[in-house]
Amino acid sequence: MVIRMEWEPEAANELEKVPEHVRSMAKMGIEMSAGKKGKNKVTLDDVKEAAEEFGALMKKDEKKTTKIAVVRCDIVSETCPGVACFKAFNKRKVHFEEYGKDAEIIGFFTCGGCPGRRVFRLMDSLLKHGVDVVHLSSCMLMEGGYPKCPHIDEIRQMILKKGVKVVEGTHH
Ligand code: SF4
Repeated sequence: MVIRMEWEPEAANELEKVPEHVRSMAKMGIEMSAGKKGKNKVTLDDVKEAAEEFGALMKKDEKKTTKIAVVRCDIVSETCPGVACFKAFNKRKVHFEEYGKDAEIIGFFTCGGCPGRRVFRLMDSLLKHGVDVVHLSSCMLMEGGYPKCPHIDEIRQMILKKGVKVVEGTHH
């Protein structure tokens, strides 16, 4: 007979911290271990115990993935769906060349309009999701049909102050 395992809210919250790609496997392992102890409810202690046992493995797995976010110009976004940025990332070209196949884009957002304050607010949210690097899109840096972003230095500093690496450019 399969016993449906309940989860204490604190235990469920802790499970959310496990990288998404190994979370269901971790959940199954924790439930099996709790079941062997004759329990039908997973507690925070059960999760911590499992984290100690499998922690090194999970961290090693997590390190393989580089989490990337791209910030782009709000004005340019009115006419650009961002295809060239994604194309460069998908093919690991230009400013995405150095990333391995496990890298992923976890955020793609506009600055919110001049002077780009949305970047500051969104950095906190991205940090919760483990962002490693933010690319300033090429549309913020190029001069030609439109001027280069006049707030680029402040935007760059907003990101660096949050302790996140900045790469200048995406597809150009
Ligand atoms: S702050 Fe820069 S990137 Fe943002 S809308 Fe203004 S010019 Fe574009």
